[in-house]
Amino acid sequence: MEDNSTLYFKIFDCAPDAIIVVDDDGKIAFSNHRTTKLFGYNSGELQDQPIEMLLPDRLTKPHEKQRKSYTKNPSVRPMGASKELVAKTKDGSEFFVEISLSPIRNKDKLYISAFIRDVTEKINTNNKLKDLLEMVEQKNRELEHFAYTASHDLQEPLRTIKGILSLFTSQYLENLDKEASQYIEFINGAVSRMSALIKGLLDYSRIGQGDISLHPVDCNALIGNVLDDLAVRIEETNAKICLDMLPVVNGMETELRLLFQNLISNAIKFSKKDEAPLIRISAEQQGDYWKFAISDNGIGIPEEHLEQIFIIFKRLNDRSSYEGAGIGLAHCKKIIDLHQGKIWVTSKLNEGSTFHFTLPVVP
Ligand code: ADP
Repeated sequence: MEDNSTLYFKIFDCAPDAIIVVDDDGKIAFSNHRTTKLFGYNSGELQDQPIEMLLPDRLTKPHEKQRKSYTKNPSVRPMGASKELVAKTKDGSEFFVEISLSPIRNKDKLYISAFIRDVTEKINTNNKLKDLLEMVEQKNRELEHFAYTASHDLQEPLRTIKGILSLFTSQYLENLDKEASQYIEFINGAVSRMSALIKGLLDYSRIGQGDISLHPVDCNALIGNVLDDLAVRIEETNAKICLDMLPVVNGMETELRLLFQNLISNAIKFSKKDEAPLIRISAEQQGDYWKFAISDNGIGIPEEHLEQIFIIFKRLNDRSSYEGAGIGLAHCKKIIDLHQGKIWVTSKLNEGSTFHFTLPVVP
């Protein structure tokens, strides 16, 4: 084993980070090989120079102040934790750095060591990602606005068609032959479906437009209200709903009511023709969130469609067997996204499905 001090020196000099040790006057007492490479100086050129020569001119005064206050109360810590730090090379070009500081006491003298890493590439990539994210969010807002205005404006001509159709039916229906009245019935059906689609789209684009702050929401009380609203459907279908003790979550009450309403009414709707719906709602805490499960004994969902059903207007069953516009689960997904949660489904065809989603715990 070679002499320890030689080994320490080699570790210091071969380190991948620039390591600079300054005395309590801010003069560079030591610097390693990587420092000279990173800052573009020749070996020895930095010795006894003020550390501020490695900073852009605009930062030297504030740095001197910070250095003095650090010297009074030194500790091991990253420098400028939440700020982007900038350093300057010999030729004046600037680059981003991450710096960790630690005090060293040697023979009654205080030294500060700084480990400096060039993070220009990381920061540039992060900034590019931030710009991209901002652009995607902006496009998303534009798309939502487009969906909102389009669906809003489409309502007006549709109302006119509905009105005229109803006038036409009341005045002329008895003069029409069987085939013509059937055509009118088809048109009526299509107009109602289009109206439901447009309303769904409008509701979809409205989700998250108002106050999106989170508040404690008691899921027992919320589901109690939803079940009251669904009382007729529950009685008609003989549905049995088992509720575990549910938590208070951090959420948006109106949106969460819509979420439970969609999932419970789907669990009732997509039941087998010969078996009453049996639905169980439970929740378990997993760290910072509650994981909910709403399971049913219904028709189930083929594996290849488990993800697609959350896409707006996606339906798997024909209208004559199960009515619907294919918007409910898109609403649920948007609501859970707003809560920064996840929603997914597990299912076995002809046995039933379980919708899982996560919601934040109350901090
Ligand atoms: P809708 O109920 O209006 O058709 P949704 O967006 O709520 O629209 O659901 C999309 C599709 O997902 C449904 O058409 C159905 O095929 C399937 N689905 C949703 N919930 C269930 C469920 N509990 N069991 C079986 N299939 C379901």
